Amino acid sequence: MKQIPYKIYLTENEIPTAWYNVRAEMKNDIAPMLHPQTLKPITFDDLEPIFCRELAKQELNNTDKYIEIPEEVRNFYKMYRPSPLVRAYCLEKALGTPAHIYYKYEGGNTSGSHKLNSAIAQAYYAKEQGLSSLTTETGAGQWGTALSMACGYFGLDLKVFMVKCSAEQKPFRRGVMETYGASVTPSPSMETEAGRRINEMYPGNTGSLGTAISEAVEVATKTENCRYALGSVMSQVMLHQTIIGLESIKAFEKIDEYPDIVIGCAGGGSNLGGLMAPFMSDRINGRHNPYFIAVEPASCPSLTRGKFGYDFCDTGHVTPLAKMYSLGNGYIPSSSHAGGLRYHGMSAILSQLYHDGFLDEARSVKQTEVFDAAVQFARVEGILPAPESAHAIRVAIDEAEKCKETGEEKVILFGLTGTGYFDMYAYMAHNRGEMKDYVPSDEELEQGFATMPNIE
Ligand SMILES: *Cc1c(COP(=O)(O)O)cnc(C)c1O
Repeated sequence: MKQIPYKIYLTENEIPTAWYNVRAEMKNDIAPMLHPQTLKPITFDDLEPIFCRELAKQELNNTDKYIEIPEEVRNFYKMYRPSPLVRAYCLEKALGTPAHIYYKYEGGNTSGSHKLNSAIAQAYYAKEQGLSSLTTETGAGQWGTALSMACGYFGLDLKVFMVKCSAEQKPFRRGVMETYGASVTPSPSMETEAGRRINEMYPGNTGSLGTAISEAVEVATKTENCRYALGSVMSQVMLHQTIIGLESIKAFEKIDEYPDIVIGCAGGGSNLGGLMAPFMSDRINGRHNPYFIAVEPASCPSLTRGKFGYDFCDTGHVTPLAKMYSLGNGYIPSSSHAGGLRYHGMSAILSQLYHDGFLDEARSVKQTEVFDAAVQFARVEGILPAPESAHAIRVAIDEAEKCKETGEEKVILFGLTGTGYFDMYAYMAHNRGEMKDYVPSDEELEQGFATMPNIE
């Protein structure tokens, strides 16, 4: 039998030419988003003042199975894609497991994560429409960095509202964004009504994604020739991220393997959704039956402990409502190191798939176990993972350990979404044994749920 190589690469010409839209094949459609004031299903005209036209269309497109990737975006992809599918031989050996472990590595670009896959598409559509600027929010900083790169490339101005505690913890992230030409404002700021309101209500608070979103949307809608861009949660973002899964499927064909288990960390759900979607198509159409696991931090457990219902996507209630698993738009997670996984809600697509049993399982993990897995992985596989990615590594290792007990040669695929060089304070705290776990009590969660509107 031919030995499977360590890295399975596609050629440049094998980069997919269309994104895959799983909504076209889902058993149940996602519930329509609702307008924040009228609570009526949103239309293109409602979205158009906030998002680029083409992206608003993609957001509402539940029918086209494939959506062509514009040539300019494909050309940009060629600078850092295809990303490798890696056979984790060294990890397998260290674990002594018969499982075949693979990871799709998205950290090989300057932003250090998969976020660039959607950032470049969003900046392209903005440019194509003749806009001059974009606004956005960033939590851990990866999205802001990715969009800075994309806006720099297309010559668009960008204003980033960065969650305050993160801006303080990661000054170099800010430096990278500014290097690419973006302006960065810690959130909550005093520059917007939403920011001033939150600062008044909760003096001294260190910010949340929900608040930063409100600020960015407010500026986008009040500035001429400007729109807002979002790095996760929305269906358009997951659509762009299907490049990850489409490349993975092609790579597996080359080596004649197929994953039994597909694992991804889930913040807003875009990387897991993008990795999973083409495999989900196989499942929906009865071609294969992979098992899907979403991994989330125990400190922000939207799938495992959240409620499935309509909620606002932001704290300031300026964005549309989505039907999703949520902890409530007023839920403020503890300042854990899960960084990009600290969002109160979850992609409507992933939420619906989970509700319908297609996304098989959600698992929450504590941050000390996550960092144990991160360190173990870094030492044997070389790559220093982002803490977010390490959630998926944790569960991949746990599943591989199970195979060791049962002797099963399962094929495990997980998404390695990025690198962790900007998270060294967290790694150092872990190395000193000072990292603490935080699991919210039921009472704390109830306070969050109380902020969800009651809509059937
Ligand atoms: C943003 C981010 C995530 C989480 O976001 P999703 O939309 O759930 O994919 C995970 N890993 C990294 C490295 C990120 O930057």
